[in-house]
Parts: sequence; structure tokens; C-alpha cells
Amino acid sequence: MQNLLHNLNPEQLAAVTLPAQSALILAGAGSGKTRVLTTRIAWLIQTGQVSPGGVLAVTFTNKAAKEMMTRLSAMLPINTRGMWIGTFHGLCNRLLRAHHRDAALPQTFQILDSQDQLSAIKRLLKANNIDDEKYPPRNLMYFINNAKDSGLRAHQIEAFDDYNRRMVELYELYDQQCQREGVVDFAELLLRTYELLSRNQPLREHYQNRFRHILVDEFQDTNNLQYNWLKLMAGEHNAIFAVGDDDQSIYAFRGANVGNMIAFEREFKVENLIKLEQNYRSHGHILDTANALISFNQNRLGKNLHTDAGHGEPVRIYEATSDLQEAQWIIEEAKSLIAEGSMRNEIAILYRSNAQSRVIEHALFSAGIPYRVYGGQRFFERAEIKHAIAYLQLMDNPHNDSAFLRVVNFPTRGIGARSLEQLQDAAKQYGVSLYAAVPYITGKAGTSLGAFVKLIEGARFETQNLPLPEMVQVVLDASGLMTHYRNEKEGADRIENLEQLVSAATLFVSEEGFGLDAPALLGPQSQASAGPAIVTEDGIEVIDADAPLVTVMSPLSAFLAHASLEAGDNQAQAGQDALQLMTVHSAKGLEFDAVFITGLEEGLFPHENSQKEEGGVEEERRLMYVAITRARRRLYISFSQTRMLHGQTRYNMKSRFFDEMPEESLKWLSPKVQQHHWFANPKSAWDDAPAIDNRIAQSIGRKDVGWRIGEAVAHAKFGEGVIVNIEGSGGSARAHINFGRHGMKLLDLSVAKLDRI
Ligand code: ATP
Ligand code: MG
Repeated sequence: MQNLLHNLNPEQLAAVTLPAQSALILAGAGSGKTRVLTTRIAWLIQTGQVSPGGVLAVTFTNKAAKEMMTRLSAMLPINTRGMWIGTFHGLCNRLLRAHHRDAALPQTFQILDSQDQLSAIKRLLKANNIDDEKYPPRNLMYFINNAKDSGLRAHQIEAFDDYNRRMVELYELYDQQCQREGVVDFAELLLRTYELLSRNQPLREHYQNRFRHILVDEFQDTNNLQYNWLKLMAGEHNAIFAVGDDDQSIYAFRGANVGNMIAFEREFKVENLIKLEQNYRSHGHILDTANALISFNQNRLGKNLHTDAGHGEPVRIYEATSDLQEAQWIIEEAKSLIAEGSMRNEIAILYRSNAQSRVIEHALFSAGIPYRVYGGQRFFERAEIKHAIAYLQLMDNPHNDSAFLRVVNFPTRGIGARSLEQLQDAAKQYGVSLYAAVPYITGKAGTSLGAFVKLIEGARFETQNLPLPEMVQVVLDASGLMTHYRNEKEGADRIENLEQLVSAATLFVSEEGFGLDAPALLGPQSQASAGPAIVTEDGIEVIDADAPLVTVMSPLSAFLAHASLEAGDNQAQAGQDALQLMTVHSAKGLEFDAVFITGLEEGLFPHENSQKEEGGVEEERRLMYVAITRARRRLYISFSQTRMLHGQTRYNMKSRFFDEMPEESLKWLSPKVQQHHWFANPKSAWDDAPAIDNRIAQSIGRKDVGWRIGEAVAHAKFGEGVIVNIEGSGGSARAHINFGRHGMKLLDLSVAKLDRI
């Protein structure tokens, strides 16, 4: 028997081997929380305290779930495929498929990603003649998701004015529309499962009896509904083993509630609160920087982190004149890391907002350095992939109106807006889906719509015995998508992506254990090799404890759910040794030898939106803490005087976070003089020249009469700032000045007392 425990320190060992009671492991970044959680699962199984089917483990991403399963199979001779390890969404999907009748869903229900959800809402507003300026679709979407995340259905919401009353009505209509179409959004997956288990006592008790051990990683980022879901699963007797770090709570904007940690401690009468204080990930200077920064936050649960790894290299700080130059610098530094023998995979470039990646990608591309972007545009969100998926969705569930509208006339087949209006009217009149309304349409419109229905049905018939990858191939051809993109001038990339979809399907069926020959359309009951997935116990039907996840779905349904739930990184790039680009949010839980954190500027990091919200800057600081603690050996932090974002050049102050990091752990690569002078010459940014010596620049500035955009100024009350715009002239001139943490001010230049700096 493998000794699972020899690689643990005493606190980790204590956590792994705790008795079967609820416990909270509260510990900083890199202290081994995820390792402890995984080892505990292995230990519980190895010591016979639980069978693999009796464990429920919740991870934050699908990637993390996969990694956990891989590690478990390395530790124990077990098949992890049937284990209940996944994200909240993934686990709920599995439960709802198995109990779809009780949950009032078709077995082939489909999952709307946020893009689909928004278009479903737009469609709803249009169908009900609602002014979308008064009720912006996005606002309605937030309203609905918020309500669902708080566990509230429309009828449970008390509206306090007319506007709200209307929002509540629209929420109700939206739910009806989804129900009619057999689709659920992300929040619905959770709420529907929660309602199902609350309502159905035998079912609830069955799963409560099964999952004696519930383990949750990244507990600080659970929202209220997720927390209540866990409570329901735990019932009276089960133990929840939660690990988390309040300093890494970075999803408040999506309803995550750090208060859940405190509630958990109280409600589950946690006697075992274990703190892990040794960091195994980062060298000393990196850890000191993270610790110092986060100490500026007020409401912390409090913990320390130390390392035995020695100081290591100082954190390198670089001030660029422009975002282009920042990217150039990153490439130079990355090249020398690679020359020293670093793997490209072990170098990450992090940014606060997705929009920053374009310039970096361009520079990497020009330099011929392979890179991989995570979480940018997801593979499954590309237009051509969405189109192909829509055809597949219609074959699995023809009542998905979003899918219908997406491809009914794509590629074009002469079905115009008029015909669709007619169809929508008929669907409304008869209370059916668009697909089901087609027979009611006569004339030319009826003929072309009928042909579309035939196309879908024909494809279904033709592929009924085919395995998934072949089905996808047939659909790509039969739909006309391949021909369409072949004739398009810039279609080559899209064709390549569509071909990638066939590979993705192949990979999916083999990884999920369907077998390469399993017919894509056949439901779980007919999959002879898998055995019965649903068994009857005490008169109720439940999922067999050890049945693989996918035995409750057909390969096609499972693949479509995967397309909505999976981050869907481009498969073509997987495994390649490439630089890793991602937002700080998506770097959570990961680690790299070298990390670059870019764009440390007021308004960008901390983000400008955070400055308006209570606690916003603290959340940004936690985000920066997450970013810093991803690095093992080398950390680089950069900022730029000017940056093109959303089509505008911005003149930025360096981030306040620099004042919160310990000077002795930092090494400034740019001349010190530039730290305090904020003369940004727009011209130099454009032609990407090396930084102009500030003293020269200032003397040029002084020769000028009046003020200039990009000039650095000091104000008695607001401190240092940068002029970002000037309106009017002469005595009536006013300037917009970015005073960093004091925000943007509009000052009258003839009155304001400003000094040049
Ligand atoms: P985060 O808060 O970022 O999610 P974490 O607390 O989950 O971090 P892990 O990812 O589990 O930390 O561990 C960080 C690193 O330290 C990993 O590479 C892990 O293998 C290593 N590690 C953890 N514990 C030990 C140990 N006792 N001995 C050696 N290495 C360890
Ligand atoms: Mg972790």
C-alpha cells in the first residue's frame, strides 16, 4: 500500500486524517490546500472509510476536477471515472439528467451559456414588445441571475415599484420560455437541483446517505445558493471538508460570499479549524511581497505564511512608456528565461482585463514565440462552432428556439425576416416551439421552412447509428457549413476550427468512456457496455453509485453539455510547450515558475469600476494577491505610462499597489527618476521610442504656453495626476485630470492651483 501521508507537514497531516466531522482548512496561497483535499480523498478510500462512490468533491473549474482525478489515480489503484468530482454546474447537470422527469425537464435539455442567455432574453423582450432601452437585456439578465443565485423564483420576489414589478414579470416569462424550449441557464442548473432535492425527500435522503464525505475546494468563492446546496447535500449527518482562503475571494461580483466561511464555521459547529502556514510554492521575496500587500486589507480572518525556500530573486518592476513597449519588454525577459532553460509552459503572462491581451499576443506572434490564451474567446464560443453546435442541438432537442433561429437561415436558404415573423406569430398562437410551428406556415415561406425541418430530420435519420465524431462530420457537410466557409474569402481558419470540432468530439467520447463506437443518439439505457445507470432502491430511481457520469446521457447530449460548461480551450494548442496567457481570475489555483503581471495602473489594476464600490479596492487587492502568489521563482510586474484600451489612449498613474509592496523585495528596472514623474509624451508612445529622459521632456514642456494632454501635475489636495483631456481655451479652459486614487477631476485651469512636476 502506498504511503500517502509521508509528504505532508504536521498540520497538513492533521487535516488529511481528521475524523469524519465538518472541518475548515483556512490557509493562504500555496500552502497545500488542494493537495490536502486530494490526499484526504485518497486516504479516506484507502483506509476503507468510504468507497469512491461515496465521495462528493466540488472544484472550481473542470480543469481542476480533471487534475484531481489524475492525481487520485496516481495515488490509488482505482478508476476515478465514476467518481463525483466536478464543478457545481457539472454535478448538477449529472443529477438533473438522471432525474429529469422529477425535475420537469426533457432528458435532452440543453444548457445556455451566457451568450445564449442574453440572446434568449433579447428575443423575449422583442416577442413581448418591451422597450429594450427602458429594460436593457443585460440588466434583466443580471436581475434574473441574481435572483436565481439567491434561490428566488419570480413569485417569491416582492417588487417595490412598477419598474421592478415589470422585471419580475419578465423573469417569470423568461422561465416559461426556457421551460418551453427545454433549455436551462447556468444558475438554473443549481436552483433546479436545489428545488428538486428540497422537494423530493426520498431522493434527497438517498444522496445524503450516499455522500458521507463532501469536500469543497476554493470555498471562499461559493455563493449563497451553492452554500445552501451544500447544506442540503450534507443533511444532518455528513461531513463537509472545506478548504479556502478569504484573501483569495475574487468573485464577489458574481455573488460569491466570503461570509459563507463564517456561517459554515457556526452552522456546522466546526471544531476543527486548521491553519496551514507554510508556503511550498514561492520564494521569499515573492511571498513577502504578497503578504505585505494583503496586509492593507481591513477585514481579514488573519493568517500568516512563511517559506523555507530562501529569498530568491527580487521582484522585478518595469515602467514602460507604452503598452507596446511593455509587451516588448516581456518578450525580451521571457526569451532570456527560455534561454536559461525555462519551459515555455512554466511562464505565465497575467492581465486584469481580457482587452489587454491583444497587444501582447501581437508581439508574441511577431516574435514567433508559441503562446496559448486561456479563457479569451472560448473555443465553443466561436461563431462557426456555435453554428455547428446549433445544428447538433436541434437534432437532440428541436424545440431549442435559440438554436433554431441561429441556423434556420445560415447558410442562407432564402428564409427572410418576414417568414420568421410569421413563424414566431404561429408559435406564439399555438404555444409551441418554432420547430413545431413550421407545419402551420403555408406558401413559399412554408416550403423553405419545411425544407429546413427536413434537413434536420434527414441528418438525424442518417446519423442514428453513427458514433459522435462521425455524426459531427456528417452534420458539418449536410448543413452546408463547410461549403459556406470554403467559399468565404477568410474562411480557412473557420474550416480548421470546424475540423477541430470533430477532433474535440473524438477526444470527448474516449475520455468520458463512451467507447468510440457508441451511437451518438442512443440514450443511456441502450448502452449495453455501461450497464444500468439508474437502479431502483426503496422504490425510487437513482443513479447507480459507480456508474460513470455519462451513462445518464447520450453521447450527443453529454457533448453538448460539455460544450456549454467546459472552458473549451483550443484543443489544437493543448499539450504544446507555449507561454500561458490568461486573466488573473482564471489563474486561480494554478502555479508557474515565472509570472508576469502586467498593467499595474490606476484605473486598470485596481480597476476603475472597483473604486466606485464599497470594498471594491479590497477585492482588487485580493486579486493582486492571487496574481503574485501564482509565481514559484520569478515574478515580474509592469506598468505603462500610456495604453490603448477600447480605442482610446489612456494616460495612467502607476498603481497604488506599488506603495504597498516592500521596497526591499523589489528591483526597479527602469531608472528611479521615472517613478515619481508622470510626463507621458503621446508621441513617444506612438512611435514606441525608448523612454524619453524626463528631465529633457519636462524642459520641453516648460517651453510651452499653457497645459498639454499627457502632462503630469500636482495639486495641493488631490496629489499627483495626469492631464487626460482639455476642453475650451484661454481663460475658460478646463482639464480632465486623472488623480489616480482620487479619481478623475474636471478642473478650471484658470482657477485650479496646479504645479508641473
Ligand atoms: P492556492 O491557494 O493557490 O490554491 P493551495 O493552498 O491549494 O494554493 P497547493 O496547490 O495544494 O496549494 O500546493 C502548492 C504547491 O506546494 C504545490 O506544488 C504542491 O505540490 C506543493 N506542496 C504542498 N504541500 C507540500 C509539502 N508538504 N511538501 C512539498 N510540497 C508541497
Ligand atoms: Mg488550491
